[in-house]
Amino acid sequence: MTDCVFCKIAAGEIPSETVYEDESVLAFRDINPQAPTHILVIPKEHIASAADISPESGNSARVASCFEAIAKIARSEGLGGGFRVITNVGEDGGQTVRHLHFHLLGGVKMGDSLTGVLPHRQGV
Ligand code: 5GP
Ligand code: ZN
Repeated sequence: MTDCVFCKIAAGEIPSETVYEDESVLAFRDINPQAPTHILVIPKEHIASAADISPESGNSARVASCFEAIAKIARSEGLGGGFRVITNVGEDGGQTVRHLHFHLLGGVKMGDSLTGVLPHRQGV
């Protein structure tokens, strides 16, 4: 996708701090880290979001590859005590980059709540 910032990172057109790469997955440090370890794991091929995963799309294997990479990166980053994986989807999910990505967050004990999930709900 020509206008997609993560496609450009995957193509090497925008620099990033690569943490892991294989034929279908790229992982790089988030430009605005929210935890001591904050890595974005993406399929190199453009998929808009987790809402686009289906048997028909043929994208499920790419998601599995991302999670295989996440497990490897967690080990290499020393996250044996645990970590959190988040993917935001669409407007209500707070997705700002419309290329599927998994936030791998760690290096600190996470709070009990899924922070930020419900800030816009009122009277429910
Ligand atoms: P979202 O809000 O879509 O779930 O997450 C997008 C993430 O991408 C944000 O955490 C943001 O800091 C990160 N990000 C946006 N543009 C860039 C970039 O050009 N380089 C890197 N490394 N991270 C980016
Ligand atoms: Zn893209």
